[in-house]
Amino acid sequence: MKSSPATKILREELQKLVNPKAILIVGLREHSKASERYADVVFYYSSGQWDGSIPFHYRRAGLFLEDSTQIANLIKDAYEASKPQNARKWIDGEKRKWNQDRSGKTVTKPFFDALLSLRWSCVDSDLPKNRNWARRIQDIKEMGYILATHTHYPCKKCGRNTTHILLIPLKVTTQTGYELITPALRKRIQNILGYYDAFEGKVRHTDSLIPDHKFPEISWDPKTRQKNLESLTDEEIRAKFQLLDNQRNLQKREVSRQIFQTGKRGTIFGIKYYYVGGEEWPRGISRFGKKSEAGWIGSPWYDIEKWRQSLNRDIERWRQMEKDIAKIKKENEELRKKLGKL
Ligand SMILES: [Zn+2]
Repeated sequence: MKSSPATKILREELQKLVNPKAILIVGLREHSKASERYADVVFYYSSGQWDGSIPFHYRRAGLFLEDSTQIANLIKDAYEASKPQNARKWIDGEKRKWNQDRSGKTVTKPFFDALLSLRWSCVDSDLPKNRNWARRIQDIKEMGYILATHTHYPCKKCGRNTTHILLIPLKVTTQTGYELITPALRKRIQNILGYYDAFEGKVRHTDSLIPDHKFPEISWDPKTRQKNLESLTDEEIRAKFQLLDNQRNLQKREVSRQIFQTGKRGTIFGIKYYYVGGEEWPRGISRFGKKSEAGWIGSPWYDIEKWRQSLNRDIERWRQMEKDIAKIKKENEELRKKLGKL
């Protein structure tokens, strides 16, 4: 993941979306064994800096963010949560919880206590001696905690590159505001949409096709987000999503941001065709919130397949019109000739 151009673009995009004085996006990293993807970050606070990794793919919590704005928001949330004064409160609360309700977790508790440093912890030097540390980490994850894993992190204590674990004071499972597309839901959407790549206009049997919300997230307000994506009907899925690969996803996001800012409704290949409305954002429709969707409908990227079909129909119609006009002209000429002979 590190070297791919899409990753580089995403990193740059994320850096633009966060305050560079507070947050440095170092890079993106994948822990494929656990289906986790992280943004490696440095958070700057007046009291010092915090090196961490924020997972934006985290299988255990069903967190699979693809949209850069959402990933950036998650990172901003993590920045707030990791602020020393907030982290302190969170740690105190967790200590209380573990002492009261989880005092029976005698094997796992020392691990959790060590992780409460909220620093990268070496499994050999910082965590309790236990051959089955992976099991303990699993246990903590299953309780709903967010743990980042780094498989080759330099340890100052043992001087080796070892597996390090970091506890992030954020509970993604209970967090609202993100539409979580789980791998199962993604699969379902891919199947319902028949692996049809809306941009390429063809079926591509590849797992790289990502469900794209037709209604761009940049216009969403908190009320736009739908809680129970699992209960969507097939029809609702067809109405709500199209499939795009990662590169086109990023491109759509960029176009959507420009549309949001300028009110010019964007193009594909520079083609100024809109199946509803025109190039300008319609008057009287806000660009933000649930009702803004009306302004997106008809713009090329909103529903690319519909745009393509509509354009093809119109091209056919124009062709037919030209033929009809040519025919009428010819008939007129013939008529004139006949009249001349009379
Ligand atoms: Zn170590």
